[in-house]
Amino acid sequence: MVLPKTIAVDGPAGSGKSSISFALAQRLSYLFVDTGAFYRAITLLALEQAIDLDDKARLTALAERARLGLSDHLPDDGRQYTILANGRDITPLLSSSEVDSCVSIVSAVAGVRQALLDLQRTVAARGQVIMAGRDIGTIVVPDADLKLYIDAALDMRAHRRYQQRLTSGESADLDAIRAGLSSRDTIDSGREVAPLLRAPDAIYLDTSELTLDEAVDAAYHIVCEWDRAHDAS
Ligand code: C5P
Repeated sequence: MVLPKTIAVDGPAGSGKSSISFALAQRLSYLFVDTGAFYRAITLLALEQAIDLDDKARLTALAERARLGLSDHLPDDGRQYTILANGRDITPLLSSSEVDSCVSIVSAVAGVRQALLDLQRTVAARGQVIMAGRDIGTIVVPDADLKLYIDAALDMRAHRRYQQRLTSGESADLDAIRAGLSSRDTIDSGREVAPLLRAPDAIYLDTSELTLDEAVDAAYHIVCEWDRAHDAS
């Protein structure tokens, strides 16, 4: 079987791209890298250090200094990755609503994006990697063997997030979640640097009407099609 060296997965918040990429990585024995976690990590550190989110120079300096890394250690708490900042496991802190509401502001800063680019490219170069984010197929790994753009209707994405929160025992407000996702979509798609875009050569997968298992099967089918096309050539 000829498998793609790198699979780039982009799409808006809540489209299912992380869950699909994680499950696909397990099926293919690939490394799953969720680049949203890197932006979330810088946002968390900025909040912890009370950095003014309008201060682009300080945010950039923070991102340049932060030693982020991935760990192979995956405790059995439902997480899809373990991310370390200066050796500290910050993974459980990355999905707080405070980080959720600030991350798009931090990720729109050009210096922050530049500081995280090398790390992402170094990890992607290992091969056998599924990397998910907003600009993976367009900026981070434009020459990825296979690119997917995973999408879903806003109402569906909001509903999924709502269910996820309830399932994990948190309180949730559907309207607030929908508004938060919509606001992140607007900032992520409208920013000047590396906006969320579908790469021209990305395969579009709309998961609005699919269960997670169906979406993973659909993504796996795309990989098999890629294999067939490249095995024959
Ligand atoms: O994927 P997730 O929702 O965790 O991403 C959090 C935020 O990180 C996004 O809303 C976006 O602002 C930013 N991000 C980005 N580029 C990426 C991945 C995430 O700007 N490649």
